Amino acid sequence: MTGAGNNTYLLIGERGSSPSAGLIDAGVGDARHLAELAAALDAQHARLDAVVVTHGHPDHAAGAPAIAASHPHASFIKRPWPDEDARYAVAWHTLADGDVVTAGDVPLVALHTPGHSPDHMAFWHEPSRTIFTGDLVVQGSSVMIHWSRGGDLGQYLASLQRLLDLDPRRLLPAHGPAIDDPKAVLSGYLAHRRERERQIVQALRAGHSSVQAIAESIYDGLAPALLPAAQENVRAHLEKLKTDGLAANVDDRWTLLGSAFS
Ligand SMILES: [Zn+2]
Repeated sequence: MTGAGNNTYLLIGERGSSPSAGLIDAGVGDARHLAELAAALDAQHARLDAVVVTHGHPDHAAGAPAIAASHPHASFIKRPWPDEDARYAVAWHTLADGDVVTAGDVPLVALHTPGHSPDHMAFWHEPSRTIFTGDLVVQGSSVMIHWSRGGDLGQYLASLQRLLDLDPRRLLPAHGPAIDDPKAVLSGYLAHRRERERQIVQALRAGHSSVQAIAESIYDGLAPALLPAAQENVRAHLEKLKTDGLAANVDDRWTLLGSAFS
């Protein structure tokens, strides 16, 4: 599910003969990534001091032990997600909402932005109005919310709104290209999810009650290979409606509640 792979961002300070460097996200420990990282640091005679991880999914965190092995000065920093973090054998330093982390002499404000995962952090560089957005947005695509693996659509939408409220100029995601029109992309995501919720409410009203039946009614003609992802998405929406007090379920039989949508 990582598409064309994932981005990590290396920030190198300007001070001194051996400037400090910070890396945002650890990647997976791919040999080519490690070699490129070493080359970029060598070119500036820089020392890797910090690896700041947006969240505990493997494509962002699994490379931490390999980086630790070749960069002994580096601290590994993320918001805790104990079950996931324990899979990667480094001493994690913890990060809370609003903390300022320094990466390559650049101060970044940590923004707890859960929803895609419970531990997700975005990093805000106020002077340039840039946000390192991890897995919150992918240009030209949508982001998976796996309810069964700690995803929460309601939290995710609140996180997108939080980014929008900062009025950023640029988003640097962990997948896909930089986003130079953040307002359009974030507003588009929010509108898309509102429309999807409306379709799911309609499907429930029409008598479709299982995740599969709702998914098939909405994603008409979808290739079978894509149906599991569509069902995961429907489930995330249903769980949001349930949290909002607008739907209920007994196992996989879902119904709308009361007159909320009348
Ligand atoms: Zn992820």
